Amino acid sequence: MTGTLRVLPLGGLGEIGKNMTVVEYEDRIVIVDTGLMFPTPDQLGIDLVLPDFSLLRERAVDIEAIVLTHGHEDHVGALPFLLRELGEDVVPAIYGGPLTVEMVRSKLDEHRLSGAALAPLEAGRDVEAGPFSLELVKMAHSIPDAFAVALRCELGTTIFTGDYKFDQTPVDGVPADVARLAEIGREGVLLLCGDSTNVDRPGWAPSESSVGPQLEQVFARCRGRIVVTSFASNLHRVQQVIDAAEALGRKVALVGRSMRKYVNIARRLGHIEVPEGMLVGVREIEDFPDHKIVVVSTGSQGEPLSALRRMAHGEHPQVDLREGDTVIFSATPIPGNERSVNETIDRLYQLDAEVVTARDAPIHASGHGYAEEMKLMLNLLEPGYVMPVHGDHRRLRMHGRLAESVGIEPERIFRVANGRPLEIDRSGARLGEAEHAGVIFVDGVDVGSLEDVALRDRRMLSADGIFIVVATISGDDGRSVSPPEVIFRGVPFLDSVDGLVDEVREAVEESLARSAEEEVREITLLQDHLHDDVAHFVYERLKRRPMVLPVVVEV
Ligand SMILES: [Zn+2]
Ligand SMILES: [Zn+2]
Repeated sequence: MTGTLRVLPLGGLGEIGKNMTVVEYEDRIVIVDTGLMFPTPDQLGIDLVLPDFSLLRERAVDIEAIVLTHGHEDHVGALPFLLRELGEDVVPAIYGGPLTVEMVRSKLDEHRLSGAALAPLEAGRDVEAGPFSLELVKMAHSIPDAFAVALRCELGTTIFTGDYKFDQTPVDGVPADVARLAEIGREGVLLLCGDSTNVDRPGWAPSESSVGPQLEQVFARCRGRIVVTSFASNLHRVQQVIDAAEALGRKVALVGRSMRKYVNIARRLGHIEVPEGMLVGVREIEDFPDHKIVVVSTGSQGEPLSALRRMAHGEHPQVDLREGDTVIFSATPIPGNERSVNETIDRLYQLDAEVVTARDAPIHASGHGYAEEMKLMLNLLEPGYVMPVHGDHRRLRMHGRLAESVGIEPERIFRVANGRPLEIDRSGARLGEAEHAGVIFVDGVDVGSLEDVALRDRRMLSADGIFIVVATISGDDGRSVSPPEVIFRGVPFLDSVDGLVDEVREAVEESLARSAEEEVREITLLQDHLHDDVAHFVYERLKRRPMVLPVVVEV
């Protein structure tokens, strides 16, 4: 008797970001990727968005392994939070390529989680994980050491492609292992969970190595300082910026903590080559003539705290942008970030800097393959079932259609949502019961003292707004002595409910009167009752749970 394979995505479906999938067989679990997402501008006060993995808390002892396809934040960023949720007694093996492992190690160290069982894994080596075995297959992407995962159990092999492109001239000279993929395909693939990012782009993605010469051309036209912004983890791009700078006799300064950190790790592992004397410290920039400097900076997405954003606002302590400087965006905005990127660009113009984006010159190549590459993946693997992942709903559907176009029957293609498991046994595949799949918000830079209460508060504020209720009571008998004040911010639908604020005021009066009758005199207790009564009332009327802050003043 064989069991049921359960593939449960907790994030990454119907959205771009926070990729995470829980795979279960015979009650044992392997987790593929633990990604995060950056907040959209309307999620004020939120720093990070994580998949809600609380259902794993009770299953912690069942987790055999966590396997990470590559070192991008949307695949590894939630790991410290997940490990903390699982507790210190649970130490699952964490596999990934050597670069991924080192990037994650430095991340975990920052979170004071140095006890994790990180294990770098070579491509092609099989490791056991309970009823599973797993193998990494080399892929090309915008970061070195990107892998697909072949996860086997007695029912068959599931392939998670991770992020990939079939780049024939990758910057590090190591293309995707097409031969191994074909071999695995010949052995038989049960399920393919494939990257959908660029399914809407026909043809083939341009090679990453096509970017370098373009960058050099743009550099050659610049008279002043050059600032190139890209993802810190896009190490192939950073390498090409360094090469272009070298060709034109410019020095390179790395700005932004994550930029320096990742470049250091990549240099140590031999993934980035920097000629001797090329790098200069950020404080030395002013020691060189403007035409001898290239600054490589984080902030390509307009992130609020990033180095580039601070430069654009004239708030960077070392880099003071001025006329003659050119800022080159060697990245495109992730959907949702367009607004903050545009705002950053406009600020740069205000400083009289020149701005070059991927619209002006081909200085960006996506790390994700286009439609023809996805077809190649499907044809190499000939999977029994297909589950498109890593994309918004539109892309998931398009990826499904693409699978149909290469001959996979529609009933074998599953469009799954976060929290909905795909269940496969000997008799076939079907969608299972939906589980809870929400998000967890992280606020504050001091993640070490992350408090659930603060998180919940932020979540409520972000979604449902806030009510502040100020009541003035008599110190003699606790009765309300003046009409309560009701202040609200960001409560949705409030305007559409006539007279609601008056009704809230009445609810406050009633609550106070009841407390007075019950001779509740303790202020904190009064506030508690007031909170519960108002929250209950608002929920009944609006079906919303704004944060309610009662303030009781005694006179
Ligand atoms: Zn990636
Ligand atoms: Zn990704």
